Amino acid sequence: MSEPKCPKCGSNEHVHLVSTFTKTGTVVGAAAGAAGTVGGAATGAAAGAALCSFVPVVGTTIGAIGGAIVGALGGATLGGATGYGAGKLVDKALAKYKCEKCDCEFEAESST
Ligand SMILES: [Zn+2]
Repeated sequence: MSEPKCPKCGSNEHVHLVSTFTKTGTVVGAAAGAAGTVGGAATGAAAGAALCSFVPVVGTTIGAIGGAIVGALGGATLGGATGYGAGKLVDKALAKYKCEKCDCEFEAESST
């Protein structure tokens, strides 16, 4: 996909898609994922504890901590990836472009 031409300088050399929502989507998604991860961490902790509970006390504790960490990291990463994808779709739908050369923003014509 090639960038549309800037309406001011008539060139697409310095034009790029404005990715506002790709960025915010990633942040929001990561935050949402991290928030949702509290549940995931609890589940991971429970699963880890259950898996390691055949080693009394120490195994249960280590399993719970490990499970919580894996659950937390997974949630934030997945959330960020999902937010990135959703934000990118919004950016493409809006089709807002910016020319770095003359610093103007414009919306792309739907006809390529
Ligand atoms: Zn321009």
